Amino acid sequence: MKQAASPFVMVHLDTPAGGLITGPVSVVHGWLAVEGTGAFDRVRLVNESGVTIPLALVNRPDVRAAQSGRATVGFSGWIDARRALDGPWTVRFEFGGRPHEASVELLADAAEADAFGAAKARKLARIEPLLRCPTCRAPLERGLPEPRCANGHTFGTAYEAFDLRDAELRSQLDRLPVHDVSAHGYDASLRDLIARSTGPILDAGAGLRPDYRDDVVNLEILPYPTTDVISSAESLPFADATFDVVISVAVLEHVRDPFAAARELERVLRPGGHVFAAVPFLQPYHGYPHHYYNMTAGGLKNLFAGCEVEHLGVPASGRPIFLLSWMLQAWRSQLPPAAAHDFEQMRVADLAVDPMMLVDRPFVRELPEAANEELAALNVLIGRKRG
Ligand SMILES: [Zn+2]
Repeated sequence: MKQAASPFVMVHLDTPAGGLITGPVSVVHGWLAVEGTGAFDRVRLVNESGVTIPLALVNRPDVRAAQSGRATVGFSGWIDARRALDGPWTVRFEFGGRPHEASVELLADAAEADAFGAAKARKLARIEPLLRCPTCRAPLERGLPEPRCANGHTFGTAYEAFDLRDAELRSQLDRLPVHDVSAHGYDASLRDLIARSTGPILDAGAGLRPDYRDDVVNLEILPYPTTDVISSAESLPFADATFDVVISVAVLEHVRDPFAAARELERVLRPGGHVFAAVPFLQPYHGYPHHYYNMTAGGLKNLFAGCEVEHLGVPASGRPIFLLSWMLQAWRSQLPPAAAHDFEQMRVADLAVDPMMLVDRPFVRELPEAANEELAALNVLIGRKRG
């Protein structure tokens, strides 16, 4: 059969619901369905002026099941509400090597978008006196178009934030995909800690915060619209004892020196202030861009030896089901189709056995090396001493 000139293309947005953006920034989650067979590539949002917002591809078995006979894929990214005002928007993508597009309704509230811009400008002005040079800890000279410290170290201005990365980190990280985002709200115990705080709060590794708060300094290594300070976590650009609460959620597994990063979090915390730190124990490899050290509860406690522990436990978002479902989804999505089908038919009882009974099964043998690394029970290193 000849390929039709304009094949059936369906685009659906799950988030924002109804295409209506209600906050300063919105996660964009949705899916595409196309008649035919082929692979999806370069999925992105584009407006009439050519502004392009890249979207990451996401596995969506629910859509695959509901749209049987069609090729489907999920996508994920985010959009700044101020940017969203410049519509109309289309989703463009390549399918089977050919370009396609479909219009999508994406609306934002202009007043709310303006309010976000004003709130951000007010907050950045309040943050400026708290900043110190990450290299020499000298105060920053204030009110200059390009931030610099009293000793002449200069910093970037490319984003609507204080960019206090050094030149090397900036050049590494400017090549990373900012659209592959971590966007989470605060859990109940953290909201409680924030509510009881009497001074400034640092969220060191905030990701994209759908809720932009006046009292929280959002620090992140990549520039999201809600980022206030762009900096590495291993040398925080603040004076000692600046904050009443410091937050570090799913960050310390990504730093080369978690002991140094924890000392930095303690340094910028005022005596009597609270640290809220969450670090994975049993979680598969996830880069963003690197992933070094997972920790037990004891390891996490040891990291913050300068703090008296008020609570040490498993949050709702850290229950074992999050490990099991992550593991199973990542495993199934990387198997060849026949092995993936067999894998899906297995019962828990088939899996809860001596693993030596399963090592020759296709779902084990045919798992690609990248998936073995992502989901490994163990890594091994063989080294040879230099010199
Ligand atoms: Zn300096």
